[in-house]
Amino acid sequence: MVKRQTTLTFYGGVNEIGGNKILLQDGDTRVFFDFGMSFGMKKLFYSPPFLSPKSEKSLQELGILPKLTGIYKFDDKPPEIDAVFVSHGHLDHSAYLSFIKRDVPVYCGETTKIILQAQGEMRRADLEFNVQDIAFKPFRTGDTKKIGSVEIEPIHVDHSVPGAYGFVIHTSNGAVIYTGDFRVHGTKPQMTQDFAEKAKEAEPVAIITEATNMTSATVSSEAEVEDKLDGIVNEADGIVLAEFAYADVDRLNSFFRVAKKNGRCLAVSLKQAYLLNALRADEHLDVPDLNDENVLIFRKSKTTNYKWEKQILEHYSDKIKTAFDVSKQQCKLILALSFYDLEELVDIQPEAGSCFVLSASEPFNEEMEIDSEKLVHWLGHYGLPQYHVHVSGHVMPLQLKAMLKEINAQRIFPVHTENAGLFQKFMRDLKGKTTVIEKAKEYKI
Ligand SMILES: [Zn+2]
Ligand SMILES: [Zn+2]
Repeated sequence: MVKRQTTLTFYGGVNEIGGNKILLQDGDTRVFFDFGMSFGMKKLFYSPPFLSPKSEKSLQELGILPKLTGIYKFDDKPPEIDAVFVSHGHLDHSAYLSFIKRDVPVYCGETTKIILQAQGEMRRADLEFNVQDIAFKPFRTGDTKKIGSVEIEPIHVDHSVPGAYGFVIHTSNGAVIYTGDFRVHGTKPQMTQDFAEKAKEAEPVAIITEATNMTSATVSSEAEVEDKLDGIVNEADGIVLAEFAYADVDRLNSFFRVAKKNGRCLAVSLKQAYLLNALRADEHLDVPDLNDENVLIFRKSKTTNYKWEKQILEHYSDKIKTAFDVSKQQCKLILALSFYDLEELVDIQPEAGSCFVLSASEPFNEEMEIDSEKLVHWLGHYGLPQYHVHVSGHVMPLQLKAMLKEINAQRIFPVHTENAGLFQKFMRDLKGKTTVIEKAKEYKI
């Protein structure tokens, strides 16, 4: 019998942070790991909302969506892939599921399914984020899935969104590890440890690892972030405005605990409220209850509301606060306010002693791309000092190296980084050799 060949092809996450689309082929079995949107590629051509892709044709034409056959719902060919496995719910790993044929099963964590479906409800008519009719097959840590000739074992990792997983993929030529995005300085480092142990046990022939933070490493933790936030909120006389990624539940919990401790309420956005409400269904997650006395929901001033917004407005009617309500109880609030909500400040009129806390940095979602010059003008107009309190969702270089040494894979493929060359040199004394990958090139395992 001829032995099956195993190969890896990277269609995204190459020389860029995010956009991961990794094809693993094992004989006739073809599985994609992640199918994310490439923010970097998109930014080269588009400037939403006025210059946005109008169809998948444009995205393929510009190379933002790879030119592949038998995988997209807009081509009539029979499916040529067996499954997609999604590591976590960030758009740079999941958004382009939008285009995948609906008869292809999509495997992801239970929590990721909730997050993607909630986002799908909120972004209904979005070309680049539509998960309607996707055949989600949720898993939890330890559920091994057999797809053709490969067995895929998801194991939880700690990241800046709940429900993040890495994978041990048992192929015909040995185990391949895919880390997804992960860190060891979050609130659940043990999860990453569990993953590293399983990866090591598998004696892998290859590991595909994220390597985001090669030039912007910091030493901090989510616990330290909470401490710093506590210090700021404790000293602030007026309103504390906070910008953070709406699906970063760890950060939301940090703000929530700080609010409670300082006798304030955390006023979340309608979007955050909708997601929190959906995540309550996941008993494994610790998320603030919208009915808690220290939680309020901020309603932007606008005349029409979407169906999903109406659901929250009706269900939590006694929790809803407008900019006018907020303006009357400033010293009692931490208000989650994104760049696109700055217009609300006109009605809020922040009092002296108020401040703005930027508690985010990575552009893993379009809404977070802050136009800092405009922000500074708004803050200047209202006399609001800006604090930056954040910790990355990604592992730091020395911790990554220690983990890779421990896992001891024969080959290392860094993805999700703009610094693969630096990574290769930094890791040169490891036993496993690093390959600096090229886009769409096939690598034999
Ligand atoms: Zn990512
Ligand atoms: Zn991520």
